Amino acid sequence: MLQTASPNNPLSYIDPQPDSPWQTYLSQVERVLPYLGPLSRWAETLRRPKRALIVDVPIEMDDGTVRHFEGFRVQHNLSRGPGKGGVRYHPQVTLEEVMALAAWMTVKNAAVGLPFGGAKGGIRVEPGELSHKELERLTRRYTSEIGIIIGPQQDIPAPDVNTNPQIMAWMMDTYSMNIGGTATGVVTGKPVQLGGSLGRVKATGRGVFVTGREAARRINLPLEGARVAVQGFGNVGATAAELFAHAGARVVAVQDHTGAVLHAPGLDVPALQAHVQAHGGVAGFEAAQPIAREDFWDVPCDILIPAALEGQITEARARRTAARLVLEGANGPTLPGADDIMAERGVLVVPDVICNAGGVTVSYFEWVQDFSSFFWSEDEINARLDKILGGAFAHIWDTADRLKITLRTAAFVVACERVLQARAERGLYP
Ligand code: GLU
Repeated sequence: MLQTASPNNPLSYIDPQPDSPWQTYLSQVERVLPYLGPLSRWAETLRRPKRALIVDVPIEMDDGTVRHFEGFRVQHNLSRGPGKGGVRYHPQVTLEEVMALAAWMTVKNAAVGLPFGGAKGGIRVEPGELSHKELERLTRRYTSEIGIIIGPQQDIPAPDVNTNPQIMAWMMDTYSMNIGGTATGVVTGKPVQLGGSLGRVKATGRGVFVTGREAARRINLPLEGARVAVQGFGNVGATAAELFAHAGARVVAVQDHTGAVLHAPGLDVPALQAHVQAHGGVAGFEAAQPIAREDFWDVPCDILIPAALEGQITEARARRTAARLVLEGANGPTLPGADDIMAERGVLVVPDVICNAGGVTVSYFEWVQDFSSFFWSEDEINARLDKILGGAFAHIWDTADRLKITLRTAAFVVACERVLQARAERGLYP
């Protein structure tokens, strides 16, 4: 499957780079093919994004110079509904990465049964280097450039790595200015007073906790006293840590881009959150012992939560981890070879497409509330979230059990059947 480029054989944009997120996604698709029966006629659909838009995003910097940034919006599949997925601001964003993230959204939305296709966007930028005003200009110009393919019925962006409710407010405003009306349903993850939903900010971390609790129960791992190690302490990792600590688990180690900290009796999660708020990362947190970032993977723990970027659980780290349960808060954190090693070692992996689906599930609620202009209480949102995720998890668990496959392949079986069924029923146009 891996091609090598030469002057006479330039790579196609769908040919993956080795160990890239797109390569990981394509390997995951290969594993589902034997279970698709007659629907495998449509399998090529899964290997190609439906539409990929690359935009130049020029902005004026505060010092008067002009800088250009690369922006992307990829709609991987729209068979089951409008595109849905976040927008990421990160210096390593590439088209290929956004293609993988969009494809995982297709699988995630179908695995949970949300009426959306899959999409994702990104800008190749280090947002920490931009002022507030520069970030606003970047967001507005990007939104305007992708405005030709997004919309409440076409494709609905949301927050992802380094984007937040303020950025969603600017996106909503820019799109609205361009169409001459207020279209709250064009993005989700907005501030609550602008058509956002209660519970959205913590929804992804909450979903990690809910699916993690269900998985722990099935392998007889009590949460009370369980040792949890978390990679990434942004919105997802910090919320998951908070909820596990609240349930009586001990958050023994946290690693982020600034360093790693260890405290075997259990870190004070609210104090660590306050430290990260003030200092931008976990490094320097005094109520813990600093450890080398790589040593994080050797920390004795029962539950490992990768909640940062893709490709973090390599084969070597999969052999090293002491965890019995891995909860993928991040998208694509595990390489395929590492998946195999953990399966052999009896480590249960709750895959990203179900584990972190709480965010997009509450995004769905936000979109529905915006359409009806009728807003639900936080208790109602959390109850519906727990019910949908619990049901989706049980269905995937039973599928894995019946077919004797991993939870990841089972999630892909459930999701790809739904996507390809819709594809077959809609038929080819023209
Ligand atoms: N960025 C989140 C994800 O990866 C949420 C997407 C959304 O709410 O549309 O699932």
